[in-house]
Amino acid sequence: MVNFHIMTLFPDMVLAGLHTSILGRAADKGYISIEAVDIRDYTQDKHGKVDDYTYGGGAGMLMQAQPVYDAYQAVAGRIPQGKKKRVIYVSPQGKTFHQTMAQELAMEEELIFLCGHYEGVDERVLEEIVTDEISLGDYVLTGGELAAMVMVDAIARLVPGVLHNDESAVTESFGNGLLEYPQYSRPEIWHDKRVPAVLLSGDHAKVDAWRLEQSLIRTQKRRPDLYERYQELHPPVEKKKRSQKGAKED
Ligand code: SAM
Repeated sequence: MVNFHIMTLFPDMVLAGLHTSILGRAADKGYISIEAVDIRDYTQDKHGKVDDYTYGGGAGMLMQAQPVYDAYQAVAGRIPQGKKKRVIYVSPQGKTFHQTMAQELAMEEELIFLCGHYEGVDERVLEEIVTDEISLGDYVLTGGELAAMVMVDAIARLVPGVLHNDESAVTESFGNGLLEYPQYSRPEIWHDKRVPAVLLSGDHAKVDAWRLEQSLIRTQKRRPDLYERYQELHPPVEKKKRSQKGAKED
């Protein structure tokens, strides 16, 4: 079970996106929980303001430290004492998000996401509360909401029970370090294209071998970087035997 707490200026956007389909069902069944915390509720400004100009000049407004800090304190106060909490600031300046990171985060119990907006967030509050800064990729979004939603989705589907078939997260792209093999559904022939015969053979060993081969071909072609890493971790048997023999002779 992972409890996701998303600190944002746009709680409706986050909840609408994350409470549909598989994640909505998983939340209803108690495998995950998703709360959106409206940072604006915590501002001490009587007009509800949460941003101000940046010192030193420059374009745009910055989210102020006080409302972010107080929102964080409120969330942290609801988490039982002594429980570890990770506070993730989604930011283009963080480490780039990937599947291994999602797998690691899926093992936590309490994940707090901070979504920035405007020019970002006052550095001082980031220094006080943030444990991880994670980016969706090398581009700039208008706000952190979409980034947090993408990350929550990728993490949540790895939490046991969320997918009906826990196997599928393992065989999917990146689960074993490779891209997934091509897949086909009914009918057997569509636009004169036939489903590969091996998939209709009923021979599970042959199907598995074909799928691995297709994964390797696809990964080598589309993501040579992943393919190279996979080859390093899974040297072909002959190569492995030779390197073991060489090590013994040394
Ligand atoms: N001034 C910031 C900079 O240059 O690094 C960019 C601010 S951006 C317009 C506003 C907010 O969107 C950020 O505080 C962050 O929360 C979110 N954001 C933008 N790009 C992102 C990305 N690639 N990954 C994750 N969050 C991002």
